[in-house]
Amino acid sequence: MTSELSIENTELTQTILNASPTPFIVHNKQKEIVYVNDAFTAQFGYTLKDISTPDKRGTTIYSNREYACKIKKIWEQHLKEGIQNNIFKPLEVQLRCKNGDCRTIIAHATHLPESANNLLISLHDITRHKQNEEMIQLASTVFQHSGEGMLVTSAEKNIIAINPAFSSITNFSEADVLNKPASILISKRYDSAFLTEVNSILELSGQWQGEVWVCRKKGEEILVWSTINTIYNEDGSVKQRVTLFSDITEKRQAELLALKQANYDPLTSLPNRTFFFTRLEEEIKNSNITNKPLAIFFLDLDGFKVINDAFGHPVGDKLLIEAGKRIADTAPNEDSVARFGGDEFTVLLPNLNDLNRIALIADTIITSLNQPFQIEGNLVYISASIGITIYPDDALTADDLLRNADQAMYFAKDAGRSRYFYFTQQMQRSSIERFSLTNDLREALELNQLEVYYQPIVYLPTKKIQKAEALLRWNHPERGMVSPSIFIPLAEETGLINEIGNWVFHQAVQHAQLFQQHNPDFQVSVNVSPVQFKAQNDWTSAISEVYFSSCNLVIEITESLLVKDDRQIIDQLLDFRTAGIQVAIDDFGTGYASLSYLNKFDIDYLKIDQSFIQNLSTDSSEMALSEAIIVMAHKLGLKVIAEGVETEQQSGLLYSAGCDFVQGHLFSQPLPVNKLLGLLSSEKSSESALYFE
Ligand code: C2E
Ligand code: CA
Ligand code: CA
Repeated sequence: MTSELSIENTELTQTILNASPTPFIVHNKQKEIVYVNDAFTAQFGYTLKDISTPDKRGTTIYSNREYACKIKKIWEQHLKEGIQNNIFKPLEVQLRCKNGDCRTIIAHATHLPESANNLLISLHDITRHKQNEEMIQLASTVFQHSGEGMLVTSAEKNIIAINPAFSSITNFSEADVLNKPASILISKRYDSAFLTEVNSILELSGQWQGEVWVCRKKGEEILVWSTINTIYNEDGSVKQRVTLFSDITEKRQAELLALKQANYDPLTSLPNRTFFFTRLEEEIKNSNITNKPLAIFFLDLDGFKVINDAFGHPVGDKLLIEAGKRIADTAPNEDSVARFGGDEFTVLLPNLNDLNRIALIADTIITSLNQPFQIEGNLVYISASIGITIYPDDALTADDLLRNADQAMYFAKDAGRSRYFYFTQQMQRSSIERFSLTNDLREALELNQLEVYYQPIVYLPTKKIQKAEALLRWNHPERGMVSPSIFIPLAEETGLINEIGNWVFHQAVQHAQLFQQHNPDFQVSVNVSPVQFKAQNDWTSAISEVYFSSCNLVIEITESLLVKDDRQIIDQLLDFRTAGIQVAIDDFGTGYASLSYLNKFDIDYLKIDQSFIQNLSTDSSEMALSEAIIVMAHKLGLKVIAEGVETEQQSGLLYSAGCDFVQGHLFSQPLPVNKLLGLLSSEKSSESALYFE
């Protein structure tokens, strides 16, 4: 390095200074730099020329003029003190190198012995040290203020430091845990295998992440997400491990709750439809691997709606819970029973080795549900209809399987309930047919395919026809006569029953006028479906339009309608009453109606259900029940009509029991209007009791 060192320097001094790895500069009295050694140029990039005068320095080696002024002031202060005390205080300065880098240096100054006015200044780069210091400061701040719990363990796995968050999460203070093994924090639910596994991962990779149940001071456990990292000694041995963790107990609980809400039915706590589908799809995959078939039950409670209406929703809810328990108890595995919705349940039977088990389980479920339920002081009876389908025989997808089982369940219901049916292809065809029948029904009215028939109702003491029940017939162009027991339910499901029911009513009003020409007291009864009570109708005005006496009309309703405590239904029934229309309870004895209902609604007729009449014999329980119904009805001022009377014996028994009216094939099938009119006129002309074809 060339130099303008104007001191009595020697080559030796310069050689020594240039050989030193420490940067040196020499400063003269005029505050000019008169010498820089090689190490200075090497470290900071500047030659003497670049920085010799204060002016040059101000804008090059300091980042800005303000900082340059500040340093200058401090420097002068240090100089002054240094001259007085002969000791210069070191000065920390931020220097900008020629290449733009910033360095932090400590400058030490001494007077050069040869010239008291020149200062030899050594510069020590402390940038690294400074950065480390800052990092340590930062780390300490993070450690102290972090929301995450932290602990540092020694190579021997003892706790050597914890942060405040550790204490607030676990309630352990430093005194509680310092120098204790870290394993004291781990929940007792883990066996030694867990710790061995974590340790072996740490040995291998130095890192571990995962969920751990941790004990708090008072013993309760929390779930934490923790990350362990290792600090190594230079020789590669473990120095310390640092563990960071956060409490995820609440988060996990919230996740579990959300999972439960999405997958479980809140009422019965059974898996819901979503969960069932997921399981079914898994089991289908399993079955493909194991080659073992699986069965699905679709179960619907029989008569649940009636109970819900009769006893109220709280009882209905409890019944569902109890029924769910009974089904789950009989199923092989808890998860395999789901509440599908309403009063529908599904059962999954995977891994079947023996297909005979299917029927056994179905039987057990039905038998168990047949046992009475004791709910809030009520003894409640239900049954269940089950549809069964098998994978892979019947279908290959979850959706198709469920549809099959559902269809089979409908067939079980149709066949009389409280039984199980296996799905068959025939059922599928019928379901498709049902669908096409529903479509045809939409046009039946417009295409004049419907006709109202009348079945005579005979007064037993005189055997004369006094009334007739309007029974709808559908003459389908391809299928011929379709039974109302098939198409009325379809009409109810689709709401078509309102339109059809109104039409039947208007027809009945017209025809009743014709029948009245034979007998002014002749009554026509019209079946009204519960669905129709939910819609508006204009029946009372229809009657006044034709100047027809409404006493000649009877509405037949089912017991289930009375059981509902529904304002709309009550108002509708009151309207009928005001208009002079009488009311009959159809199919009496099959539902839950009690005497109090009959009184409350001011009913005129009871129609004893066919099922009682069919099995009527002298000492049968049906006989006893029919007698009881008749006596009770008469006490309440109601008349009794027995339905489905097919034999002389039934007719005789009913007569002796005091029954008022009979209706059935023994007297006549339902007839077209003209046939009934003919019958009425022949009855009139003969004036004697007749039996009719
Ligand atoms: P329901 O009101 O109980 O009608 C009596 C059913 O018993 C009629 O069946 C009738 O033909 C049948 N029946 C009469 N006597 C005998 C007998 O001696 N033995 C046997 N085994 N059966 C007899 P139908 O006409 O097939 O009607 C079936 C059901 O369809 C009716 O049962 C009723 O619930 C419904 N229905 C018929 N027409 C209408 C209607 O216009 N509106 C509504 N909402 N439902 C109707
Ligand atoms: Ca009826
Ligand atoms: Ca009936």
